[in-house]
Amino acid sequence: MNRVKVIGKRARRAFSPTKIPGARWVINQYVGCQHACRYCYAKFMRRWYDYGRWGSWVVVRENMPELVRGRYVDGKVYMSSASDPYQPIEKRLELTKRILESMSKRIRLSILTKSDLVLRDVKLFKRFENIEVGLTVNSFEESVKKDLEPHSPSIRRRIEALRRLHENGIRNYAFISPIIPKLTDIEEIISDTKDFVEYYFFEFLNFRAAGAEFRRLLRDRYWEAYEVMSNRDKLERYVRDVVKAIRRSGVEIGGICLHQPKLVVLK
Ligand code: SF4
Repeated sequence: MNRVKVIGKRARRAFSPTKIPGARWVINQYVGCQHACRYCYAKFMRRWYDYGRWGSWVVVRENMPELVRGRYVDGKVYMSSASDPYQPIEKRLELTKRILESMSKRIRLSILTKSDLVLRDVKLFKRFENIEVGLTVNSFEESVKKDLEPHSPSIRRRIEALRRLHENGIRNYAFISPIIPKLTDIEEIISDTKDFVEYYFFEFLNFRAAGAEFRRLLRDRYWEAYEVMSNRDKLERYVRDVVKAIRRSGVEIGGICLHQPKLVVLK
């Protein structure tokens, strides 16, 4: 497990308005993430929480269970955008679990994680009127996963978690992200999961938000991927082909997200 510095804080509010597609509110009981994905878009949080390298610290908003108690918000609540609610530290702290226990079960909740620790809370999920649980899946080969997501659970475990959620009657979704040329095999993911996944959300890599360090990593170790990501014509062709493959697959599509109106190229 990735050891981290833990910083306890008190939050002022539980639900913050968000522009995340399909959601109205976001809840971030943790800021910072032990999974330490190299491309993580939440790294920008270091502007406000300057505790060092992304993945080496976690801010724990300890009073969140009190803040959600007795509160109802209209519209979908997304958990979380600045961390993974089931990162390893959750096993010991049970903060996410206590929030779910305290939260109104009428709240429309959408959870996203990379961890099969989520299965611990299946019984709690069943008490919500409207809940969905997503797992991020991206089909990186083991060596690539180690490089890009050094401390997240294996893709196999995430796929198994999707299966178990389905078997337990919990609406699930696969968040296929980040889609990176040459590294992400959409057709393989769909064929491995379509029997037990309700719907899919697809997201192409956000080359800008992934940061310069990640762009350098891609250039130096995954040149073929970098070459496509940094060339408008190649990227457009790639996106067109992937979108065709997605549509051809016949799965239910929750959304396809492309962040790339502007190309980001290393100098
Ligand atoms: S699991 Fe999500 S929040 Fe955590 S480091 Fe990876 S991308 Fe960032």
